[in-house]
Amino acid sequence: MLGLAALTVSATGAITVGQVDSAASDTAAPAFTLQANALTGVSAVSSTSSREQRTQTISRDSRRDALQDASTQELKEAAEAQVAERNGELAKLAETATKHANKVAQNLWHLPVVGYRLTARFGAGGGLWSHNHTGLDFAGPLGSTVMSVTNGTVTSVGYEGAYGNQVIVTSDDGTEFWYCHLNAFSVQVGDKVAAGDKVGELGSTGNSTGPHMHLEVRPGAGDPVDPYEALRANGVQP
Ligand SMILES: [Zn+2]
Repeated sequence: MLGLAALTVSATGAITVGQVDSAASDTAAPAFTLQANALTGVSAVSSTSSREQRTQTISRDSRRDALQDASTQELKEAAEAQVAERNGELAKLAETATKHANKVAQNLWHLPVVGYRLTARFGAGGGLWSHNHTGLDFAGPLGSTVMSVTNGTVTSVGYEGAYGNQVIVTSDDGTEFWYCHLNAFSVQVGDKVAAGDKVGELGSTGNSTGPHMHLEVRPGAGDPVDPYEALRANGVQP
């Protein structure tokens, strides 16, 4: 159906443009595009009805036919030049979009909780922990949404003793993000998550004295680093 519509346009378009002076103006540009598309349709499909239409057109006036052939060639060249220019513009646009996407991807960290207060910093000592605090605590209302800090894959979901209900998301660069003391899970192992996607709900499971989310950041699945500094270094101010 689409091919036939294009072909009809072709026959009509050819007559119209053939009568117009061959000097190309800006306002004539859309007609050229139409013509280029239609020409492609003719060579590709070559339907009987189009041939009939063309024959009728041509038999009307052979002089016009000759003029039309000449102008068709000019139109074809003009259309091809326009297509080449348009492709160049599209390529530039695609390049710009890719650059933007890369920029976003590089700086895609996201705060894990909204409406929190920090209650324990990395490295803090005290009776609650057997050794210095290995994460950053975000205290907030029970059931608050806990979101992934980065893009990544869920690599662990379960109850882990002192950590309580824990989700681990491994980011694309191999850094593990531990979300602990959760009230509920929102993901399963193997899930792909984007920064800001919900991974669970804030809770007080495991070694916890009140609703909070204990965040750990472990580059290369190794020893924990200070989440506060890691967040800041990636453009997020906790
Ligand atoms: Zn903690």
